[in-house]
Amino acid sequence: MDKNIEVSIHDVHHLVQNKDQPIRLIDIREKEELVTGYIEGAVFAPNSIVKIRPEEFLPEKDTPSVLYCTSGRRSLATAKMLKGMGYINVVSMAGGFNAWIEAGYRFKTDGTMDQEQIKRYSRQILMHEIKEEGQQKLLKARVLIVGAGGLGCPTGLYLASAGVGTIGIVDFDRVGLSNIHRQVLHATADIGRPKTDSAKNAILRINPEVNIVTFEQRFTPDNALDIIKDFDVVIEGSDNFETKFLLNDAAFLSGKPYIFGGAVRFDGQASVFYPKGGGPCLRCMVPEIPPADTSPTSSEVGVLGVVPGLIGLVQAAEALKFILNIGDTLIGRFFVYNCLKADFKTFFVDRNPSCPLCGENPTIKGLSSF
Ligand SMILES: [Zn+2]
Repeated sequence: MDKNIEVSIHDVHHLVQNKDQPIRLIDIREKEELVTGYIEGAVFAPNSIVKIRPEEFLPEKDTPSVLYCTSGRRSLATAKMLKGMGYINVVSMAGGFNAWIEAGYRFKTDGTMDQEQIKRYSRQILMHEIKEEGQQKLLKARVLIVGAGGLGCPTGLYLASAGVGTIGIVDFDRVGLSNIHRQVLHATADIGRPKTDSAKNAILRINPEVNIVTFEQRFTPDNALDIIKDFDVVIEGSDNFETKFLLNDAAFLSGKPYIFGGAVRFDGQASVFYPKGGGPCLRCMVPEIPPADTSPTSSEVGVLGVVPGLIGLVQAAEALKFILNIGDTLIGRFFVYNCLKADFKTFFVDRNPSCPLCGENPTIKGLSSF
């Protein structure tokens, strides 16, 4: 990066958020390129015109201005040209809009789908509950999946296929041979790779237009709120109560719906915990984290691969319904599945007024208890 004339996407993100030091952000892409979205607040000034009549967009030669294009190449060339003309504070955003999206920073779209998208999602758009308007909601949605395992893999696969625009994946683990019978995003050739990489590749093979943001790290009390903050919905696919409770608390404190799932042996459960939407949280049902020896994991007692597969898809369906605002979600209901009996049930669950997190006199006000 040429520091005299280029700035990083991270610097631009910081500048855009810092309202005290306004900068002029200029999107120099041509009109047909804007279907992929743009950075909020940007001024549109096609490169072909900026090069001929810069004074139209830069009335003063010393105003701090950042140019961006798709990859950063055209904006760099134009910034150099403008600098030569005396526009001393013009810089180019390195990496362009592609890098901005890749980093997971928020962007806007003008609500028009291209032909490819309309074809790809035509079977969804055909339904009056979804239509193009609903598909747009999915394309703009940001869903976080914590754990790219037996639950997170089918969830990620179907959310990506449905066109959820941004999917975040948190996992610190690497693919092992014993994972593959249920973790359908990972293949035998992926053994030893970080699960986030393997999951990202598999999803992009199916739908290359999804923006995948990976977090190859443990989900901890220190990073939980920071990871969650840019997502609309959080889906959990962990195999331990510590993470389930951490996600429950972090989602509640962030005001986001938490889509719960669990699968061991032949049994699965799912629910949507969202006190803001009128339902209970996980702690309304189980106030404290149960001791580890009371809740065996699949690595201890086994699991039939189809069980997390089915539960993961129930979670994906709940996320899609929540984003589309259609149907009756599992907010306030607990879904249980027994594979051997081919039995599906849902139970109503209420808010618990004495819940330590979302009750009337909460004792948990942060993540410090973990
Ligand atoms: Zn609660």
